[in-house]
Amino acid sequence: MRGRFGSYGVIVTGGARGIGEAIARRFAAEGAAVLIADRDAAGAEATAASIRAGGGSAEACACDVADTASVDAAVARAVDAFGTLDVLVNNAYRCAEDKGRFAAEDDEEWRLDLDVTLVGAMRCTRAALPHLAAAPGRRGAVVNIGSVNGIASFGNHSYSAAKAGLMSLTRTLAVQAAPSGVRVNLVAPGTIRTPAWDGREAALETAAALYPLGRVGEPADIAGAVTFLASADAAWITGVTLPVDGGILISN
Ligand code: NDP
Repeated sequence: MRGRFGSYGVIVTGGARGIGEAIARRFAAEGAAVLIADRDAAGAEATAASIRAGGGSAEACACDVADTASVDAAVARAVDAFGTLDVLVNNAYRCAEDKGRFAAEDDEEWRLDLDVTLVGAMRCTRAALPHLAAAPGRRGAVVNIGSVNGIASFGNHSYSAAKAGLMSLTRTLAVQAAPSGVRVNLVAPGTIRTPAWDGREAALETAAALYPLGRVGEPADIAGAVTFLASADAAWITGVTLPVDGGILISN
């Protein structure tokens, strides 16, 4: 299949559903071979099979970004299957239930949120970086999925802190990786209609009314921004945070 990402190998963590799934589908539609690395092995396989049924190239792999051995195996699997690793999308996350009262914050929940969302992205990037640096034409790229929560105050302390940390990691790593040609950027979504919101339709409607563009986002809105940042059109962009948020950050 031809397209911007023909001959690219791509890993999307948490790619079985939601935003990660849309990102995986978009890369595959534009020619990439995609490894969907998700804790939900059956969901990852179902998404990969559906991409293949549509003529795209995709494989699935059970992967928990909180587990170093699991991450290392996923990266090795992608390199083995595709012969090249050009793009890593760090999308997997964890978000503790917001207790609404700071006194109720829980040490273990904080540890888990940071371990999956922030340290998980570090683990994946650490394993992928040597391969990304070897990508042809200095086209290696990391795209982290952050959140407007990492920029402004929308609640969920531990999740927001992890996402803010991811923005910092994006900047520091962008500088370190630049000599090897690897670019590191972050997309910060606003509210996006995904399975994470299942059963909370009323909350999505309330949120939609707050967005200057008059709706919440769809996973495809994020996939478009991620593929742009991974593409040659963004060859001189590194270390940035790109809000994709329907204008919510500039409306407050
Ligand atoms: P979903 O909850 O719909 O999907 C997340 C996927 O990641 C699931 O398949 C989940 O598997 C998997 N996953 C969870 N933990 C791990 C792990 N430790 N290792 C590997 N895979 C894991 O999420 P969204 O699509 O809504 O969100 C995707 C990204 O977008 C996240 O980074 C999130 O913070 C960000 N974002 C989302 C927003 C939204 O409104 N939806 C807003 C702002 C940012 P399982 O089913 O096993 O949990």
